[in-house]
Amino acid sequence: MSIDKLGKQKKIALVAHDNRKEDLISWADQNKDILCKHFLCGTGTTAKLISERTGLEVKGFKSGPMGGDQQIGASIVNEEIDFMFFFWDPLTSQPHDPDVKALLRISVLYDIPIAMSRSTADFLLKSPIMGEEYDRHVIDYYNRIRKDNF
Ligand code: PGA
Repeated sequence: MSIDKLGKQKKIALVAHDNRKEDLISWADQNKDILCKHFLCGTGTTAKLISERTGLEVKGFKSGPMGGDQQIGASIVNEEIDFMFFFWDPLTSQPHDPDVKALLRISVLYDIPIAMSRSTADFLLKSPIMGEEYDRHVIDYYNRIRKDNF
């Protein structure tokens, strides 16, 4: 187990599939007074729409189907993102479904808080520790697996 410290200002990724974009934009607009205290980034179209519609500054990666999910996953591994609001569409398969699965796997591996629905997003964002430093416990799976096998 290793401990990574999350700062008071979180590095938040915002991602929404097309059928969920309006949900994430309206949620971000309602919560912009809290979100503006953090560093925001997102997949290309989501980032652009949230910036345009809420006035929040959101750094854009590539669009999700063009590799944006993978860029966000890599940023999690590089400790450049430590929080995620990911409104994925439960009714529509995506051309980049393997990337979505990979992003969710990496998020769990690195103990990233993830909100996938509006209610979870509300509970996370309004948590008393959202604006505090936090020790994230990242499980050392590699050592755990080696111990079990050798
Ligand atoms: P988009 O990507 O914000 O560029 O639409 C989201 C996604 O489908 O992962």
